Amino acid sequence: MTEILDGKIVAEKILEHTKNTVLFLKKHSVTPKLVVIVVGEVEASAVYVGHKIKACKKIGVHSEVLYFDENISQKQLVGEIHKLNNDESVHGFIIQLPLPKHLHVQDLINEINPKKDADGFHYENLGKMFLSKHSEDLAPCTPKVIIQMLEHYKIDLAGLNVVVIGRSNIVGKPIATMLTNRDATVTICHSQTKNLSKHTLDADLIILAVGKPLFLKADMVKSNCIIIDVGIHRLDGKIVGDADFEALASKVKAITPVPGGVGPLTVACLLQNAVNSAKHFSNL
Ligand code: NAD
Repeated sequence: MTEILDGKIVAEKILEHTKNTVLFLKKHSVTPKLVVIVVGEVEASAVYVGHKIKACKKIGVHSEVLYFDENISQKQLVGEIHKLNNDESVHGFIIQLPLPKHLHVQDLINEINPKKDADGFHYENLGKMFLSKHSEDLAPCTPKVIIQMLEHYKIDLAGLNVVVIGRSNIVGKPIATMLTNRDATVTICHSQTKNLSKHTLDADLIILAVGKPLFLKADMVKSNCIIIDVGIHRLDGKIVGDADFEALASKVKAITPVPGGVGPLTVACLLQNAVNSAKHFSNL
């Protein structure tokens, strides 16, 4: 029978652990603070930011959202980032994506003090991740929680044939690196990959970060395959992932649902990163 990998349970576990660290820090008069930079008005961003602030409240982390006009220049935004770098009350901050087209996302992220980079997107944190699994402390959140989910469900990665579909800097490439750090045999597939099914049919584990609703079909996988679906889309009034869940759930060994799979975990990891930064800055 197919096992449904429940992200909510794993998220609760991460949040509980993070909350204990917050209590420890508060005993030493340190309250972790996370700041979210929002530029312009993006409907989906408002929902995501809301989830992040709610989670902060739940575990006692201070939070603040800084709103900027959509016409803010790159230089002005760099100035705001430097202010947060120099503010000792702020332990972690993120830039909510997407940004307006005139802004250069990675250049802005690279202005963040890497120790306050709660999303784990700064090139220094991305680079550290390549060294080993022991230097992934501020690695990108979504890949980091995928690993925590696989560990929670005791999925042994050594020697597993893994296919990662998608090669973005925030999901595909970092998760492929983290899986390699754990002795998996990893293939990265992308929009230019020829005969995708040839790869997926050989996979023990598939990580889906394609950004296309119901992309992975049942005839593309073998029956003892495990599927982690990062995609999230609204389709005909329903939230769906990159996997055709209905068809796959009766075939594969294990699968994450959408919603309720990877989604709730990413927010938990953001807080974990910010709280770890607070611990680091306070030398506790
Ligand atoms: P992206 O658009 O940056 O990358 C998509 C990747 O898919 C690209 O590398 C592209 O080469 C590949 N691709 C596109 N068409 C393909 C095809 N036909 N065959 C094979 N590969 C193909 O996306 P992203 O930022 O990595 O996000 C992927 C999905 O995950 C999106 O739906 C996004 O909303 C979601 N997401 C969810 C979370 C979460 O917390 N659950 C976090 C980040 C992203």
